[in-house]
Amino acid sequence: MSPPMSYQVSPVGILRSCFREKFAIPRQPHLAPAARGVLELLPPFDQPEAVDGLEQVSHVWLLFLFHQALEDTPRLKVRPPRLGGNRSLGVFATRATHRPNGIGQSVVRLDKVEPGRLWLSGIDLLDGTPVLDIKPYVPYADSRPEAVNAIAADAPATIEVRWTPEARQQAEWHGQRLAEPLVALIEQCLAQDPRPAYQQPQPERRYGVGLWDVQVRWHYPQPGLIRVLEVVPTA
Ligand code: SAM
Repeated sequence: MSPPMSYQVSPVGILRSCFREKFAIPRQPHLAPAARGVLELLPPFDQPEAVDGLEQVSHVWLLFLFHQALEDTPRLKVRPPRLGGNRSLGVFATRATHRPNGIGQSVVRLDKVEPGRLWLSGIDLLDGTPVLDIKPYVPYADSRPEAVNAIAADAPATIEVRWTPEARQQAEWHGQRLAEPLVALIEQCLAQDPRPAYQQPQPERRYGVGLWDVQVRWHYPQPGLIRVLEVVPTA
């Protein structure tokens, strides 16, 4: 008998994440260790049995849907932002979001386990992401020191992030209110330079992104330098 041509999958949980929009999410997990979220498990996986033993594990694999990048027509080649968006590669040579079945995978830190809830950090997932499965990271099998990837050999270069005194105060205040490492989150995300590679930022141009319930605004006073201008509640 030939296998069915399509299968149905359904989420085991929905991630509540610090990232309220795709812009400025790091390209891979752990580039922003202060990026945190809570995976809310859906019935029947919200029962204590489903996470029994998971507290013995420091990291998990998340398999998830790029729910804001799903497409009907499959692409064979993609232009990864990592390569500046002007070089195309076979879809299977990349971790691009536009891919068959729209499935993403990330190893993230598991900070706390509660029945129905997993507290995670180092995430690269958007708020509301449907998670299809969770698996424990197995260091002896998953960590391959001899592995080579000549396309993405090292973590992306970072740029310097400075603050206006007001913005720094605002970030500290909102961080305390949210009980989140907001200053670190902003520095780690902006150090990745979220601006599209083709844009030459003029000092007068303002950029912004939503993290948790605040809006962060910055500019580039000179090439290779970001200055955070304000951190204010999202309207
Ligand atoms: N680590 C995963 C992987 O390799 O499958 C994700 C890599 S992908 C290059 C990371 C980007 O996915 C982020 O920068 C963000 O813009 C995007 N992203 C994260 N969650 C998403 C979602 N639910 N829908 C669409 N795009 C998402």
